Amino acid sequence: MRALETVLTQKGYVDPAALDVLIETYQTKIGPRNGARVVARAWCDAEFRRRLLDDATAAIASLGFQGRQGEHMVAVENTAELHNMVVCTLCSCYPWPVLGLPPTWYKSAPYRARVVKDPRGVLKDFGVTLPEAVRIRVWDSTAEVRYLVLPQRPAATEHLTETELADLVTRDSMIGTGLARAP
Ligand code: FE
Repeated sequence: MRALETVLTQKGYVDPAALDVLIETYQTKIGPRNGARVVARAWCDAEFRRRLLDDATAAIASLGFQGRQGEHMVAVENTAELHNMVVCTLCSCYPWPVLGLPPTWYKSAPYRARVVKDPRGVLKDFGVTLPEAVRIRVWDSTAEVRYLVLPQRPAATEHLTETELADLVTRDSMIGTGLARAP
């Protein structure tokens, strides 16, 4: 992506500022909204949640999200006892159909190295402090398998619609570096 971007910019095909806006949009707005809909559905529909944890690729495809870099999806569920985080220690494998383009930090060497050794410290850097009793599990993505974290549903959201719930689901909460927002 970066290499192509450099070539396109040098040749004058692309305004770097415009490209940044485009990338930002795909990283934070368009892409992760798909994943948020998957999460909100799982929060509202126990049967869908079961299917998601059982065969994430099929469950996600049933909502219309599928394609490259999402052929073999695995959903991992956060609970009161367990928090999941996702990394690609080798490069930047990421579930495009549900999260769009990976953020820059996801591809950075410090994140990839440190999240494995000190996930709790990385979480703290992202502003999240979990109780010591909560176990953290880190999943290493590969070219074969891409992970989606199913974050915990925030408290006091019983009255919200599925669409309203989806608005609480952040990109980072589906990578495991954040939590779903409180309403
Ligand atoms: Fe990778």
